[in-house]
Amino acid sequence: MSMTIPDPASTSLSIDRDADQTCSDLLHFIDASPTPYHAVASSAALLGAAGFTAVSASDDFAALAAGAYYTTVSDGTLLAFVRPRKARADTIRGFRIVGAHTDSPNLRIKPRPVYEKVGYLQLGVEVYGGVLLNSWLDRDLRLSGRVMVRGDDGRLGSRLVSLQQLTMRIPQLAIHLDREVGEKGLVLNRQEHLAPILGLADPKSPRSGGEIQLLHELCAKELGVFTQQIVGLELMLHDSQPATRAGLNQELLLAPRLDNLAMCHAGLSALLRTFQQDDDSGIVPVVALFDHEEVGSSSDHGAQSAQLPRLLERLVLSTGGSRESYHQALSRSLCVSADMAHSVHPNYVDRHEPNHRPVLNGGPVVKHNSQQRYATSLPTAVAILELGQNAGVAMQEYVHRTDLPCGSTIGPIVSTLMGIPTVDVGSPMLSMHSARELAGAADPEKMTRLLAHFLLSRNLVGK
Ligand code: ZN
Repeated sequence: MSMTIPDPASTSLSIDRDADQTCSDLLHFIDASPTPYHAVASSAALLGAAGFTAVSASDDFAALAAGAYYTTVSDGTLLAFVRPRKARADTIRGFRIVGAHTDSPNLRIKPRPVYEKVGYLQLGVEVYGGVLLNSWLDRDLRLSGRVMVRGDDGRLGSRLVSLQQLTMRIPQLAIHLDREVGEKGLVLNRQEHLAPILGLADPKSPRSGGEIQLLHELCAKELGVFTQQIVGLELMLHDSQPATRAGLNQELLLAPRLDNLAMCHAGLSALLRTFQQDDDSGIVPVVALFDHEEVGSSSDHGAQSAQLPRLLERLVLSTGGSRESYHQALSRSLCVSADMAHSVHPNYVDRHEPNHRPVLNGGPVVKHNSQQRYATSLPTAVAILELGQNAGVAMQEYVHRTDLPCGSTIGPIVSTLMGIPTVDVGSPMLSMHSARELAGAADPEKMTRLLAHFLLSRNLVGK
């Protein structure tokens, strides 16, 4: 296979930022994004402020001028891209794609959630993705999500909602009632033990089990609409504590949803730093942030869907290219699957492969797995490691212990679907899939810098 090592024209560009500023931007982004829907809205706001234009999938792409655009799908997925200035048949010669995911494991409200039990008012929840269940106990939780609202004109629209006045708890059983928890560990039944307490039931107005009206009322109040206008909702729990810095020198950050909002933010920031560096190479930068990664990416707008190939094909065809030139462009493309990686854990060092122990603030981690749980190949690993060198970013490498099953990312899915060489990369972290995770404060800038250089790289695959 022919693959030359990147020699990005970008090395002379000033695309670096202060690491503290990048970290602080990320923490704001996370606080503003308690659900995948909010993450897409936060991403759209960042792109919009930088001059990107929203485009709908039903718009005629051939009528678009050259420029920077983004499109959202089903509120949970966002695709951002630059349409090149030149409109020749061979305008688009290839893509540099950064992929990440907007969703995180959490607890989601069932369709008929409100019920009373021994004097308490509670909510029924479903487990979404690989949740570290214990991390949701004894935490001050809030509800956010999206609501379908019927407007005055009779049309239905989706609105984001965050119930700021409502704090709830999933209380852990007292140790006096669970004497073996210290030795045998905590065992949680997903149906029985995860229902948050909303408050105490009102004996004067008992509620029949399985109602939703109460949440309709709360959402209507929050949104300033009539309760009858709310026709449906989708709410999920999240930690109410803001993301924060920690460590003697503020070298750590503590936040929910670092997996994978930290990578969404890095991909977007890299695009915002580089999208105006238009050249006539015909290489188009794309940032694809997908919903549903934590449950397998199989949905109409997950990474397995037709959304990305459809967008790329439309970009080529609408700029005068043919289906043949679309396939040619794919053959000159490369994808970075950006998803968080495991830092070595000081209390569980033996869970890590002895010679592959990434450290916090040590820079982006290239992830390898011979079973293809990560999409990294020899050529893509070499390309990204040398790109890091060119960008002045130290890189780390990870492989899971051979006697433990390895996690996965959108990397193998996108590379299989598109036939595009892909590398799996992520910033190191601890407590992955906890309600609140931990990462290094210097890593967001390092990852952003690496991805910026990747988006500007030219001579990667073929010619
Ligand atoms: Zn992830």
